[in-house]
Order: sequence, then structure tokens, then C-alpha cells
Amino acid sequence: MFSILKENGTKGLFGLAGLLAVLLAVTGACTTGQQPASENKPHEAGIKRSVFGKMPDGQEVHLYTLTNSGGMQVAITNYGARIVSVLAPDRNGKMADVVLGFDNLPDYMKYNTYFGALVGRYANRIGGAKFTLDGKIYHLPVNNGPNSLHGGIKGFDKRFWAAEEVQGGGPSLAMTYSSKDGEEGYPGNMQAKVVYTLAKDNSLKIDYSATADKDTVINLTNHSYFNLAGEGNGDILKQVLMINSSKITPADATQIPTGKIIDVAGTPFDFRKPTPIGARINEDNQQLKIGKGYDINYILDRKGPGLELAARAYDPESGRELEVYTTEPGIQFYSGNFLDGSVHGKGGKAYGSRSAFCLETQHYPDSPNHPDFPTTELKPGRTFHEVTIFKFSTTSQ
Ligand code: BGC
Repeated sequence: MFSILKENGTKGLFGLAGLLAVLLAVTGACTTGQQPASENKPHEAGIKRSVFGKMPDGQEVHLYTLTNSGGMQVAITNYGARIVSVLAPDRNGKMADVVLGFDNLPDYMKYNTYFGALVGRYANRIGGAKFTLDGKIYHLPVNNGPNSLHGGIKGFDKRFWAAEEVQGGGPSLAMTYSSKDGEEGYPGNMQAKVVYTLAKDNSLKIDYSATADKDTVINLTNHSYFNLAGEGNGDILKQVLMINSSKITPADATQIPTGKIIDVAGTPFDFRKPTPIGARINEDNQQLKIGKGYDINYILDRKGPGLELAARAYDPESGRELEVYTTEPGIQFYSGNFLDGSVHGKGGKAYGSRSAFCLETQHYPDSPNHPDFPTTELKPGRTFHEVTIFKFSTTSQ
């Protein structure tokens, strides 16, 4: 049973940190770290809405805090359909916010880090900022070297997404955005939708769908930056990662796939066995140099078209574990190499190099220019549909 609780009028005074503090106080002792979550009373599952700020046109932006019966909380905002915070328990039941982000909307608008964002219309890069579809060349905004990154200058991450609670099946929030024909250079009016559901088992399901009225391309992802020790709590180099992939799409100097496919065996990119992220990150490897660390598309070892385990990460110290399941063919593993301490996030904390990792489920970068990659074309009358699940648990390791 869950409900949208009353608007939190205190939000404007305290900011996000204040809101979380109020929520933690209300939800009780399981947030103090003194008792395992299992020893606490069940939490009231539901969605709480509070004001987060305003869009430049005056449109009010909200923060929706989804709580499950175990006390896990995920806050999502209309601005870019972003995941703003994820409170997950460690092996002793102590909660920490495991995603990088900001306390306020203006900082989300100011910094181009894509923290928690829903990235579209095309996640990752399109080479030379152009592609050909049905014999026509489409030019996109150039915003990353000679390329177009993450949907252009004003991609889906910077748009207002209308939100609505979905009844039944756990706290669930649907968000929609109508993208105009020609927006950021992409053809066709597009109706995009995402449904976030926080289940009892601490899994956050992200269900994406979209339709368009002209032939177009689409690649959606969520760009959460995870630190399983808690955001702002050092780097992620000792956190252990497994990626269910034996191949990568190597990139050129501007990070566009060369078209080759490389076996990870014998390279620092082999995460088929759980390995600390930092174990090989400074090895003398051309692809590591190009990305200044890990920043590469993995081709997932899939058995079929459904939801399959793509990656698992854990923090040996806290025991927090994240599993990523997806229907997508690829995943971008990015080790936060371009963070340099200049961006100050929640509570004013400086986010330094490699202070988080991203596991961005996706189609391969630059697919519109690689006919041999799985297609990213969407035709009128068809529905794009992909699902990714971030499941949180703990490990004794
Ligand atoms: C890209 C990185 C980029 C980061 C932030 C990742 O998806 O692969 O190269 O720096 O997003 O934009």
C-alpha cells in the first residue's frame, strides 16, 4: 500500500540535504546505522513530493521521493528525469546516499555532468556530429570535440519531464517528455516515457519507451554516478566490479568506435571475474589513455533478448552491492575520469577524479554510422522499449 504524501513545505528552506534529514528522522532508527534494517518496523511505502525549484520559464520542478517498505529511498526530479539520491543500506543496515548529485536545481542546471540524468535522444557520442538516415544527412550540435555527445546541447537531461504516480506494484513514477521534430537536429516528433519503480527487494526498475512520427534514431540511458561507499566518500578504485562481457568496441582519439571489436581477454578491460576498479586502471594501454581511465562500451554476453545481468559491483568495506540488469546490448563503463574536484556536490563536497563510476546501459555509441552495430532506428508505428534494473543488496565479502 502506498500513497503520495503531502507536499513538504520545508524543502525550500533546507534544500535537498534538509529534506533527506527530515525524511530520515521521520522514517526512524534504521537510518542511524546502529541497528540492522531488518530489526526495524516496516516503512510506509509511497511517494512524497516536494518543491525542488523552477525551470527558466517558471514551471515548478518537483522532487519525488520513492520509499519502499524496507526504507530504501530514491529521489527523482522532473528536470531531466534525474535520479537525485539513492539511499541504500550497508551490511549493518546503515543508509548512505550512493549517487553523486546536488542539493539544488540551479546546480543541476549549471554543471554539465549529467548526474543521474536520463540521457537522450542519443546517449553517448555520434561521430562528426552527423548521421545519414533514409539517404538524408542530419547535423547535430557539436559539443564534444568534433562529435555530438548525450543528445546535444539541450538533450533530454535538461528538459522538463511531466510526472505522474502509477498505481499498484510498488512506488512507481511515470515521466513523459515530448520532443519536437528537429530538436537538437534529430528527425521526428518523439513521445518518450520512463517509469521508475522501487520494489520491495531494493531494485529500482527503469522502464523506457518511445514512439516517433518519422524515421529517427534513439538511445536512452541513465547516467547515475555510483559510489557504493556513499557519495563524496573518496574514490571508487577499491570497489570491485564484474561486467558480463567478453568484447568491447574500441574508440579513436575522439572516443568514437573505430568499428573494430576487441576481445577483453588479457587486457585491463576484462572484468568477467570480479576485480577492483583500480587494479589495472593505470596500465599502459591505448584505450585507457584515450578515456583517461575506463570509458568504453562493452558488448554484453547475452543469452537472449530479455533482462539479463550485465554487471555487479560491491564495496568491500561497507558491503553495499549493486547489480545491473538490462535488455540493452551494451554498457558504457565510465570510471569518473573527467571529475577533477572542481564540481562541488551535495553538502558542498568536492567530487574528485574517479569518485564514482557509471554503468550506462545502452546501444553502442555512434550506431547510426555503423550499419553492422545493433540498430538504433525507430520507425513510426513501432515502440522503442528497453528496461534496466539497478538492484541494491549487501555482501559479506
Ligand atoms: C561518456 C564520458 C563522458 C561522461 C560525462 C560518459 O557517458 O562516455 O566520456 O565524459 O559520460 O559526459
